[in-house]
Amino acid sequence: MKYLVLVLVVVIVLWAMASRGRPSGGADAAAKRRPRRRGQAAPMLACAHCGLHLPRDEAVTDAAGRAYCSPAHRLAGPR
Ligand SMILES: [Zn+2]
Repeated sequence: MKYLVLVLVVVIVLWAMASRGRPSGGADAAAKRRPRRRGQAAPMLACAHCGLHLPRDEAVTDAAGRAYCSPAHRLAGPR
């Protein structure tokens, strides 16, 4: 019984940590993330490297303003 309570506490702590500490996509991605108004679809952009479509506020842009799905594809450049 003692271990059941201990396991329950560990599960609750892990769940709280997982729901709070989401991995961020870098400082520039966090700066772009704005609260979206309800009922409004985000404009979609295509990644200039792989063509993946993603919401504009989740896209990573380069100096020329091209959108990428990730910092890795921004480094890889347009294809
Ligand atoms: Zn991509």
